[in-house]
Amino acid sequence: PTHGESLLQVDKVRKEFGGLVAVNDVSFEVRAGEILGLIGPNGAGKSTTFNLITGVLTTTAGRVRFRGEDITGLPSRQIARRGISRTFQHVKIIPEMTVLENVALGGYLRGSSGTVGAMLRTDRAEERRLFAEAERQLARIGMADRMHEMAGNLALGPQRLLEIARALCSDPSLLLLDEPAAGLRHKEKQALAEVLRQLKGEGMSLLLVEHDMEFIMGLTDRIVVMEFGTLLMEGTPSEVQASPKVRAAYLGT
Ligand code: ADP
Ligand code: MG
Repeated sequence: PTHGESLLQVDKVRKEFGGLVAVNDVSFEVRAGEILGLIGPNGAGKSTTFNLITGVLTTTAGRVRFRGEDITGLPSRQIARRGISRTFQHVKIIPEMTVLENVALGGYLRGSSGTVGAMLRTDRAEERRLFAEAERQLARIGMADRMHEMAGNLALGPQRLLEIARALCSDPSLLLLDEPAAGLRHKEKQALAEVLRQLKGEGMSLLLVEHDMEFIMGLTDRIVVMEFGTLLMEGTPSEVQASPKVRAAYLGT
């Protein structure tokens, strides 16, 4: 799809956990080249929606389409290969490995078996390719100078950037970030926003779960609001900010 056209379609997607309807027939789309925000109170179903799009969880009902193809129920590695990549709400790094090794590790885990066993079977040429790609992606987001540091020594902001570099190694056209700004200091948020704007400028599409209103208002093209598993509204940042029902549900005013 070219700029502005539909890239990802979430069509009446539903997820039940026992009696709990975590995602209740939710539909929205991500357009090529946009940053779409996904907001809502804790427990609204945002992370579950990410897990349904990326194949981490199977849907109870509904379809997910990407580039016009039905990807519902595909294993997460296949979805990644088609061009959807993600970070998780909680930082997943190995503190006693370097930044570079942590980024390259993502490539091993996407390998044939999807387990650490893949690392043991990876040949030298493939290993060099993974490390070269990791280095390239770290440079892309301005982290090249820190690649030999222990990941555990980084502050939270750079750790989140590390995770973005890792997600970029599979060459995605759509990047899903689950609360990337949570817990960051003001300067770190600014650095993160700068990286996300740069990626958008390079033609990437982004779906961003975020709690920080100021952060998301300045960054997104459109926003989808969820509450209790359902889609409450979608609109531009200013439409969402002005909506009485969003204020009632989310802002508590
Ligand atoms: P959000 O990311 O918007 O805070 P989640 O998607 O994490 O919300 O959770 C939505 C609802 O689904 C919550 O009530 C949560 O407790 C429930 N939930 C999430 N994952 C599971 C799971 N694996 N098993 C059971 N319930 C879950
Ligand atoms: Mg969440």
